[in-house]
Parts: sequence; structure tokens; C-alpha cells
Amino acid sequence: MTTTPTIDPEADLITEVATKFAKRALCVFAHPDDLEFTCGGTVAKLCAEGWDVHIVVTTSGNKGTKDPEVTPQQLAGEREEEARNAAAILGAREPVFFGFPDGGISNDDELRALVTRQVRLHRPELMITWDGFRPGFNHRDHRYTGAAVHDALYPSSDDHLYFPLDKEEGLEPHRPAAMLLTGAGTPDYDVDIQRHLRTKIRSVLAHTSQMRGRSEREMRLMYEDRARQAKAAGQAGPLYRESFGKVIFRR
Ligand SMILES: [Zn+2]
Repeated sequence: MTTTPTIDPEADLITEVATKFAKRALCVFAHPDDLEFTCGGTVAKLCAEGWDVHIVVTTSGNKGTKDPEVTPQQLAGEREEEARNAAAILGAREPVFFGFPDGGISNDDELRALVTRQVRLHRPELMITWDGFRPGFNHRDHRYTGAAVHDALYPSSDDHLYFPLDKEEGLEPHRPAAMLLTGAGTPDYDVDIQRHLRTKIRSVLAHTSQMRGRSEREMRLMYEDRARQAKAAGQAGPLYRESFGKVIFRR
């Protein structure tokens, strides 16, 4: 008889998933630069440690501009290209774009079916997404993307009667071992990203249409300044970090 491994909630989550399950992650975000800003250092670390990281972007980010000349179609193409470049810098797979318009998604059957299919296709053991239930002001695309991922993982992805067309394609039910939430209301998990800060910054800067000519040096100084302030304030834990809420499905 085989027993399913469990995750020790007191141990380091990423290490637990890597050693007891598999180094497969799926990141689902709303806009082409969400991942790089919120968890680019963590994704760089995973890739450097041999994880297979897939990325989904639910909207094309096709309204995020102040340029009066640009059309949504032009902007979508540009921003998808930037996201492909950023993923290559991090060492992740080429992103999949669901192509919903900016501000135009809902946590509905269509989005949940698309997320569920990606989960069954790639069989990640670690999921990374927005905290869709954070109280207070939050972008609707972040909120709905996060909530749709929650709902796709529980119950849809692991119950074969949800979205049964996947089965006809040979995709079996699956639920990851754990999930990390960015922009979390109550973060309870830190990833030390100091060794991957340069890669994170380079991935953020790959979003040239959003960065208005900012330099690598300028961004490094900003993070160093933030780390100095954290140290002066006596902050516990890593000075260069990305913080998440953690959800453990296998405990
Ligand atoms: Zn966003």
C-alpha cells in the first residue's frame, strides 16, 4: 500500500514540495508584469533549482497605457512579447495568454475551465497566484484571477465530473500539494530572493512599455534602500524577500 506524502506546515514549504512531490509549478496572473513584480525573485530561484515553471496570463494588459496613439491590439502584442522575454530571463516556460481584455474578466465557468485545463495538463505541485480574497481595495483582474484559481483547484481540477471534456483529451484530475498567494492580506511565508535579485530586476525591466526607461542600477538602489530601511527597523527574516500567504492542500 502506498501512502500519499504530506507537507509539514512548520517546515519550509518550497523545500517540502520539491522533496516530497515534484518540482513543477504553475503561476497564474492577471497582467503581463504581475509575476515579475510580485514574485520574480521566487520564480528565478525555482528555475535555478531545477523546477519546471509554467506561466498563464489571463488578460493581455491591453489598456495599461497613457499613450493616446496606441490601440489595444498593438498594446496586447507588445505586452505579450515583453512577457515572453521576461519568462525567458527567469528561466520559465513561454507564457500562455488567455487573451481576455484588461478589466474584462470574471470568476466564471469560462475562466475556471481554462485554469482547470492548465492544472490537469501540467500537473503542478505548487501553484502561485494572486490572493483573490484579500480585504480592501484591489484590482478586479487580480481579484477575479485569484478567486478563479482558488475555485479551479477546489473543487474543479481534482473532480473529474467538472469540465469533463478534459477527460476526453486524456487529462486526468489533479490538485497541487500547495499554493502561494501574492498580495496576500496576511502573508505567512517569506522567500529570500537576495541571490536572485538581479534576475528579478532584469525580468521587470523586460516590460519596457511599463518601465519608462528605468535603469537596472536605479532599481537595484531602490531595493537596497528598502533592505536598509528594513534592517534599521529591526525586521525579522530575510532583508530581500517576497512574501506570500501559504495554502497547503496535502497536510
Ligand atoms: Zn496587474
